[in-house]
This record gives sequence, C-alpha cells and structure tokens, in this order.
Amino acid sequence: AASKPVVTRFAPSPTGELHVGGARTALYSWALARRHGGRFLLRFEDTDLARSSAAAADRIRADLAWFGLDWDNEGGVVPRQSERHAAGVYDAAVDTLLSAGRAYERDGAVLFRFGCDTAFEDAVYGCVETPASDNRDFVIRKGVAGGGMPTFHLAVVVDDHDAGVTHVVRGQEHLSNTPKHAALCDALGFDRPVWAHTPSILNPGGSKMSKRDKAKAARLGAAENPRQELVVPGVTPDALAAFLAKDNDDTAIATAIAAALDLALPAVEVADFRRAGYLPG
Ligand code: GLU
Repeated sequence: AASKPVVTRFAPSPTGELHVGGARTALYSWALARRHGGRFLLRFEDTDLARSSAAAADRIRADLAWFGLDWDNEGGVVPRQSERHAAGVYDAAVDTLLSAGRAYERDGAVLFRFGCDTAFEDAVYGCVETPASDNRDFVIRKGVAGGGMPTFHLAVVVDDHDAGVTHVVRGQEHLSNTPKHAALCDALGFDRPVWAHTPSILNPGGSKMSKRDKAKAARLGAAENPRQELVVPGVTPDALAAFLAKDNDDTAIATAIAAALDLALPAVEVADFRRAGYLPG
C-alpha cells in the first residue's frame, strides 16, 4: 500500500458558490496530493439535479482557480455524477450488490443490507466504531420519484474507487456517513481509502460558526468578486490559504497542511478575516 500514488479529490455539489469550508477542504486535499507528488482531482456531485447547475459548477472552478488550486483530471475532464449515472456506472454497482444478496428492492428503491458492526480508522479522529444496531439498511438507489438516481452514499464510493482515490479529506459533517461508505467498499470488494475528516472551522472564541457564516463565499475578499459590497482589501488568496491552514484550530492536521503548503504564506490576522466577514464580528 505504501507504493500507491496518493490521489485526493474535491467533490463539491454545484448548488452555490465555493464557501470557506469548501475552500479549506479543497486546500487540504490539494496540499496532500502536492506534498506527495500525487494527483488532485475535481468532480461535481450533482445527483440532486433540481439544486445543481452548470453555472454554479463554472463558478466553483473559477473560485478554485482564483484560490490558486489546480487539478489533474485526465484530459481536463471533470466528471459529473449525472453523466456517470447516464453511463450506467452506478446501476452496475447496484446489480453487483443485488446479485450478491447485499441489496434488495422496496417500493422501487434499492436498499443496502447493512446491520453489522463497523470500524474504520480516521486520520484525524482515530478509530471510529459503530455497533450493528446503529447501522440500519439505507437507500443506495432512489425509486421512480427520485429518477432512479444513486444516493450520495453509493455514488461517492463508486466514484472514489473508479478514480483511484487513496485519501478522502472532507468536513466532519460526513463522519457519520463513513460507516456506510466503509461497508459499501467492503461489499463491492473495493480497497477502503484513508478518511480524514477535518474539524469544523470555529469562531475565534471557539464557538461554532453559524450556517450563514459558513455559507459566505470564499472569494469574499477578492477584487474579482462581483458582489463589490463585500470586498475588503488585503484578503488575497494567499492570505486566505494561510488563514485556513493555520489559524482556525490547533489540530495536528492544520499544522501538517501548513508544512505541506509550498506557498510563501503571509502572516495573517484573524481580525482581517473578521473584518472581511468570514467570521462574525
Ligand atoms: N458532495 C459532498 C459535499 O459537498 C462531498 C462529500 C465528500 O467529499 O465525500 O459535501
């Protein structure tokens, strides 16, 4: 396993603009790949067709580029789950699970037969165990009303496997989803990736940020931001990277990422970011 090249990814849902939490996850994934001479991939998770748009996807790409992150998708092609669904990749995985007796149909939807204990090793949180009683069967393909679309759980596991992803860096809000993903990997015969769930960005006082604060666009301080009323001079992409790498929490991962970054990061003051509106005043 040590000889496997590192492959990371950022997998936003194109339902709005890149926000500060997404920028941080993308930065960490990118830095991990760059540090190890690996590959950093981008894909769009647009199984929620009603809320996803091509315009939002374009905007996220532009925001990542503004932030200085580049991705290594083969031929520059950024996959969309809606296209992969049309190509049948998720249905093939569903068929495999049905044939193996690990899935069954209910009202046109397909559920994964779960109900066993799980354990996985998270790079940040350590060993995470869930008992069988918490691991209820869950939908992997929606019924007719849901257009027969795969759920996030199935799509993320199949996509990461097909792309050869070795490390999944994502926000801590996904930690409770990961037992499902580990079980799906096992049932499909896929190697599990290394999961690293990053703790939420906190307010300077250590309290949780509100949904509204978290949703603020990452490009808040950029001169290119069309929402000129929010522009605060001095919040450059490098300053944002420094802020996200160093100043939000004192976990080992932030320190490791700061060390991995190949940027000359400027010194940043939390006050600048509070002024810019990233954090509540
Ligand atoms: N589309 C998911 C999100 O935006 C990505 C989850 C993941 O990185 O696995 O939260």
